[in-house]
Amino acid sequence: MKNIKKNIAIAVACVCAVMGQVTAQEKRPHIEIRGIYGGVPVELLAEGKTLEDHGINGVFMGSGGLTAERIALLKKHGAKVFAEFNSMHVAGYLKEHPDAAPVGVDGKVCPPPQRWQGVCPTHLGYRKYRMDAFRKVLGDFEIDGIWLDYHHSHASWERAVPDMPDTCFCDRCIAEFEQETQTDLPDETSPELARLLLGKHKDEWVQWRCDVFTDWVREFRAIIDQTRPKALLGTFHCPWTDAEYEGALRNKLAIDLKAQAKYVDVFSIMPYHARFGHHTDPSWISRQTEWLGHYLSIKGEPGERHKIWPIVQLSDWGESVPVDQVRAVLDHGTRRPATGVMIFAWGSLRRQMEKVDEMSAFYQAIAP
Ligand SMILES: [Zn+2]
Repeated sequence: MKNIKKNIAIAVACVCAVMGQVTAQEKRPHIEIRGIYGGVPVELLAEGKTLEDHGINGVFMGSGGLTAERIALLKKHGAKVFAEFNSMHVAGYLKEHPDAAPVGVDGKVCPPPQRWQGVCPTHLGYRKYRMDAFRKVLGDFEIDGIWLDYHHSHASWERAVPDMPDTCFCDRCIAEFEQETQTDLPDETSPELARLLLGKHKDEWVQWRCDVFTDWVREFRAIIDQTRPKALLGTFHCPWTDAEYEGALRNKLAIDLKAQAKYVDVFSIMPYHARFGHHTDPSWISRQTEWLGHYLSIKGEPGERHKIWPIVQLSDWGESVPVDQVRAVLDHGTRRPATGVMIFAWGSLRRQMEKVDEMSAFYQAIAP
């Protein structure tokens, strides 16, 4: 009798253990992309292994790092290849074109906040320079999609305490604002006009700046439609809600997600929990993603026009991400409305293979 009880106890314990494992490693067929960001993970291909062996089916890399050979290698492994494209942060452009530097509320060139250099969004030469580069990437490489990066104003927000000066009050921006919104501004100095634009005319000013940035997205979309229409247009964007930092998403960064949704296929929200002051709380990742889903009416159901694929932080940046937190980060990053995920970033993770092993185990476990 004693033995029977003992056997039953052992059996129950085994069932629980198995169920525990099932719960911890449930399949997540709604996740179509299990990706890595930051280059070709050649280290994972040693000893005849494939990307599929690691559960990886998508690789995101800087458009400057694309080569036909790299793309062929990744495709041979069944992975989709996505390019990252720097829209508003090519600082080197200003060396030869100082008139493209953003102007601050004092009417002078605004120093880069935390050394993060943006560009005036109405500088036609810069815009053409980026559009030509975008077209060339799509024409030259058989990519499955291209993701805008840094598509926001001259502001350093990728930190626990953001630094977001008001810009751009150059003569060109002010003249375009006046003309396009049919606002009569007095014949005043730039600092006085900046004061009016951030005061009496703030709503129109904020909307106009958002519209300028959205119009860039419209043109990027048109180029995709002309050159590689099957490629997805994604954007890596600030993970704040519309209310955080007093509405800075629109007011400061000039990101109008609802307006951009007309042109964007995939929203890659960037909830870098350790970098942005949430290093002990990976559930912040799924809370921000859930907010985005509500805001843009994306549920994570098959066949939806828009998708949310968060990029989640496994690298040590700001605070470190411990090995035993990797699965929690990926768990929160792969909850609906997310239908894809990628990890940030291969460049440093390749030297932290214990975290890569955790990622790989999770990806394999959730793969259908
Ligand atoms: Zn300007």
